[in-house]
Amino acid sequence: MDATALCRFIDASPSPAHAAATLVGQLVAAGFSELSLTQPEWRLAPGRFLVRRGASVVAFVVRGAKPTRFALVGAHTDSPHLRLKPRAAFQSEGCCQLGVEVYGGALLNSWLDRDLGLAGTVHASDGSERLIRIDRPLARVPQLAIHLDRKVTEDGLKLNAQTQLAPIWALATEGTDAAAAFADLLAAASGIAATDIAAHDLSLYDLTPSAIGGAGGEFVFAPRLDNLASCHAGAMALIAATDGEPSSVAVLACHDHEEVGSTSASGADGSLLGTALERIALGLGQSRAEHLAALASSLMISADMAHAVHPNYADRHEPRHKPQLGKGPVLKNNHNQRYATSAASAAAVRALAARARVPLQDFVTRTDLGCGTTIGPISAARLGICVADVGNPMLSMHSARECAATADHPPYIALLREHLKG
Ligand code: ZN
Repeated sequence: MDATALCRFIDASPSPAHAAATLVGQLVAAGFSELSLTQPEWRLAPGRFLVRRGASVVAFVVRGAKPTRFALVGAHTDSPHLRLKPRAAFQSEGCCQLGVEVYGGALLNSWLDRDLGLAGTVHASDGSERLIRIDRPLARVPQLAIHLDRKVTEDGLKLNAQTQLAPIWALATEGTDAAAAFADLLAAASGIAATDIAAHDLSLYDLTPSAIGGAGGEFVFAPRLDNLASCHAGAMALIAATDGEPSSVAVLACHDHEEVGSTSASGADGSLLGTALERIALGLGQSRAEHLAALASSLMISADMAHAVHPNYADRHEPRHKPQLGKGPVLKNNHNQRYATSAASAAAVRALAARARVPLQDFVTRTDLGCGTTIGPISAARLGICVADVGNPMLSMHSARECAATADHPPYIALLREHLKG
């Protein structure tokens, strides 16, 4: 599996809702059948299944009639970006603009002067919804000219998220009604009459396609590598995990809302995954005691991208824990539980990596720097299971355009596949 498949996956997924749809499309093509959370009973037999809620997808492979544990991979479908407010369209100084919220911890400067498309869902007053994608240079957040801000280079760029991030998307002339014009735009994109549009959930995205870069194709230059690279690796690993151990159920949970703390009906700090696992047990005719015993025997790899050492800022890394691009997946450690990796789960992942012949790197943050976090500790707490935080090294995390190494993607898939084989 080369990195061009990853590029295609990312380019097909400009919003979290699109990421979920892309995942479902690839899984269904590989023989997974869709279950519904509103269906009272799941009658399960060995086979491949998935369930989705919002922009989250839980997919699983049942390989035997009486499994005794789960082999889980967790990831997230969302990435930091600019997202439209409900009454988005307004006009100012002869321009039509869009009011935006900053979703997650975006590097704001990276959104300036890019050609932006618009993607997400439009909801009709009858309760139906459409996935839309305006895949052309619709909008742009123009940076202030240096002549009007002479100190920007020495003082650094400071952006006010309320007043200085609103993109322009049309010129306003005498009599322009920006709200009506924007409703017409959404109507044309969705096929829902402008008067029937009840709500929308729309993300701006950079139109530049993902690319393989560097002198010899060493790099993946792409948006949303955090964390669509892990969603893609997890899906490829799960699809290849059919002939694994019948005593374990292989599960891939790709959650929405990681970048904003995971507390939601579809997030990792909600009930979705726990409910899905319980319903798998019920669908296989297992007792609650058998299910609780299975959870206690399970291991999750929380798959989320890691910080490679940046050659211009090498001092930001702990001197003996500096993962490099192209040297393989990273085991992420933090005794303060910002990562869930324990000595026991680290040992388990090292054994998996040895079996899959995958090199592993180690990350711990500098003791004098704070540490990021992910769904690992949340999943460990919600499910009471053993979790290891793992991810591929990358640069420019949370930029509109990120960077990873092409060589790291195949071993990432191989490691997750070895785990999901059970
Ligand atoms: Zn992430």
